[in-house]
Amino acid sequence: MMRRNSFKTKLVGYSVNINCDFMREKIKAIDKEHEIQWIRPGEIGSLEDSDSVFFTINASSSDQIDQFFADNNIQAEKNTNISGLIYSTCFSCHSASFSSAKSFQIGKTRELFDFGVYHTLKEIQDWLKTLPTQWLKTYGKSYENRPLHVIDIGDKKDPTIVIECGIHAREWVSVAFCPFLIDQISSKKWEKEGIRWVIFPMVNPDGYRFSWRFNRFWRKNRRIIRDSPCHGVDLNRNFDIEWGRYSTSENPCGETFGGSKPFSEPESAAFRDYVQKIETKIAFVSYHAYSEFIIYPYSASIRANSPFKDALRSLALRMSDAIYNEHGRQYSYGEGAVAFYAASGGSDDWIHKQGVPIAYTIELRDKGLNGFLLPENELIDTFSENLKGLKELVRDVRNITRFAQFTKATNAPPVFSETTSIFEMTKLKNSVTTTSELTNIEKHKENSEDADKSKVGKADLDRFIFLSFASYFLLNTLC
Ligand SMILES: [Zn+2]
Repeated sequence: MMRRNSFKTKLVGYSVNINCDFMREKIKAIDKEHEIQWIRPGEIGSLEDSDSVFFTINASSSDQIDQFFADNNIQAEKNTNISGLIYSTCFSCHSASFSSAKSFQIGKTRELFDFGVYHTLKEIQDWLKTLPTQWLKTYGKSYENRPLHVIDIGDKKDPTIVIECGIHAREWVSVAFCPFLIDQISSKKWEKEGIRWVIFPMVNPDGYRFSWRFNRFWRKNRRIIRDSPCHGVDLNRNFDIEWGRYSTSENPCGETFGGSKPFSEPESAAFRDYVQKIETKIAFVSYHAYSEFIIYPYSASIRANSPFKDALRSLALRMSDAIYNEHGRQYSYGEGAVAFYAASGGSDDWIHKQGVPIAYTIELRDKGLNGFLLPENELIDTFSENLKGLKELVRDVRNITRFAQFTKATNAPPVFSETTSIFEMTKLKNSVTTTSELTNIEKHKENSEDADKSKVGKADLDRFIFLSFASYFLLNTLC
């Protein structure tokens, strides 16, 4: 099969301070029309909580964006030398370790692999090949025909923990975490006995390679879309759970384009097929970046409820505490759609609905200072604190028979209400601020999270009012 050549894209960057919802809606309109690379916030779904945005766009579209901002009287700071800006930022963060990073090739001893630096796709694949052959399996091929690898360690009868890394290409810290975890289990015997570990170290190899060679902020896979100038499907919007409903773009140029149908992508379909055959799966963690946030189902809709919500919340609290005790980093936590933002088609929600009771997405460091460009000197600390968090999860998996709520059911269907009225929105706003159901010991810890949730609930209410009274708003309060 002929493969298209890729060309380095010339990018233009825009910074905009957001003063009001009107501007926020206008920024969303740009996202619908153009292939925007979100840098701050990391995703369009986080726009509601942001006072400023920074995004890049193909230089060929910049005239239209300039005109759009001028027509809407929006002040934007434009940087036409964005590739220089990105790479200078990148190398100022990483210069020491980038220059000292040695390429790792097969044939070298496993001990030479440095977990404290970022590695190319080939280096990681070569390192995986040094593992015992009975652990390394190929479960499919990517869109560009690269092998998809999974590490499967342990007895098939033991409870299984499934780990996913690198579904979003630019989140390099996630890709770096899986080899570290595999090494801990295989070499250091960390939590190896009595657990089957199924670790997907590189769910999106085509996108990861592209992020090294052409565009550091690439997120999706590399599918060529017919009749579109844009590439790629967001694999974490391509799973069959409320597919296409929230924070999903129908535009192939969108960062969150969900594909033509659920599991349209070879990467997500192969992942589904492997996971469905695991009979003893109990827990799942998908590692992402950035935000320092532990998210539990459901994200697929603000009206979906997991029957295991209380237990997932309790475990998230213990994971957050364990992470904090390692290096003092405070990971927030909460139910996806309420505490973070509603996003359909994610792997965590899909696997939870398949009957896996313990399911999390963990957003690794940092909180936005470096964003996707996390310096390499923070990698090992990020990994060690998350090993402590994961240990709490392993403890619950080992005690699964004592964990009554997790043994009640084998399926966890989402529950949706038919309509959402302004009255229900008000109830939602009130419900997310209550702490009455919490124990005293949890109350103190939950305060910061509830403040976040209250903000999200209020934002939903405000948005509803905004849409209901749009004409009045536009006539009287334009800013
Ligand atoms: Zn991600």
